[in-house]
Amino acid sequence: MSAPAPFRASPRVLMGPGPSDVPPEVLRAQGAPTIGHLDPDFLRCMDEVRAMIRTVFGTDNRMTLPISGTGSAGMETLFANLLEPGDAALIATHGVFGGRMAEVARRQGAEVVELQTEWGQPIDPAALAEAGAGRPFRVLALVHAETSTGVLQDLAPFRAIADQHGALLVTDCVTSFAGVPIQLDRHGVDAAYSGTQKCLSCPPGLAPVSLSDRAMERVRSRESDVRSWYLDLRLLARYWGDERAYHHTAPVNAIFGLHEALRLVLDEGLEARFARHLRLSAALRAGLEAMGLSLPVPSDARLPPLTLVAIPDGVDDKAVRGKLLKRYGLEIGGGLGKFAGKAWRIGLMGASCTERHLALCLTGLGEALREEGFTPAADGLAAARAAL
Ligand SMILES: *Cc1c(COP(=O)(O)O)cnc(C)c1O
Repeated sequence: MSAPAPFRASPRVLMGPGPSDVPPEVLRAQGAPTIGHLDPDFLRCMDEVRAMIRTVFGTDNRMTLPISGTGSAGMETLFANLLEPGDAALIATHGVFGGRMAEVARRQGAEVVELQTEWGQPIDPAALAEAGAGRPFRVLALVHAETSTGVLQDLAPFRAIADQHGALLVTDCVTSFAGVPIQLDRHGVDAAYSGTQKCLSCPPGLAPVSLSDRAMERVRSRESDVRSWYLDLRLLARYWGDERAYHHTAPVNAIFGLHEALRLVLDEGLEARFARHLRLSAALRAGLEAMGLSLPVPSDARLPPLTLVAIPDGVDDKAVRGKLLKRYGLEIGGGLGKFAGKAWRIGLMGASCTERHLALCLTGLGEALREEGFTPAADGLAAARAAL
């Protein structure tokens, strides 16, 4: 074929479940000249990246690194390394991503016991303790921030339950990372993974993971090899640790971008960043509710970076989202799984969590709803402003 024109996407404002808007500093950092994956300068970049990931996760875990791949690669890394065929895994599912964890664990040959919680509700720790009562599990896993439903799960009760089962505690922190406090060490989490394109506001492609010494002990004492050569943490540790042994070529420029995105988070300050997500999400919710829209998640379980909004009866999901995209380049998320066609997911993540985003979303949505036959009860933007 002859060469097509250079590819150019239309400008967008990203307010879905990720990716979020990427700050120009991060894009510039990714565009720096490529250097070797064993270059002394790059080794220094790697060490700083690991230290910054530890800070955001709230951990001192030595085994902390970004996996080459998106958030799901982080998920797969943990299950592939922590589980051997025949191991039992107890997984609490309250949305799409808990279900994905169960599927990934099953593919490792594990016997999976799944506790299903109604979508849009948090997991009941007592029910989970009961679901696994009287038998050991290798792993107990749950999602901290369920992006398919907009539920934030309190991690505090789960260490004790994992101990009852002799299990390692594994959490999905893809959407909580750099958007809400995580505190792996305080909550006794043994292994966690995240992704770069949600509250970190970095392009997709890397998955920060962190494992406690106890979790690495388990990996080192496996009877069988990890079935995935690419995701084998014992091999990856030799590259990311002192040995600097080649395993696969690190995505050097993606890691430059990750370094800058993490640096921007620490420069803002974690507490200030969490407060920004809380403040603007409260205003968004005030605006949506003033318009007469309903938010299915109970108010004490809502995840600041992602809000689930029920689509009013008679309103066409795709027509509204299509208008926002065409008119304003504004992307909001459709429903996922059981919420497909029934709810929207509005993200206020990282660089997409600003008053500008809030105003554009409430204004554009009010306009599109009116054209689709739903008259908002009040001016959403005015209500959001009052809440600010
Ligand atoms: C986005 C997401 C994932 C998957 O990450 P990808 O980067 O799409 O592979 C996993 N878990 C949660 C909670 C997510 O939000």
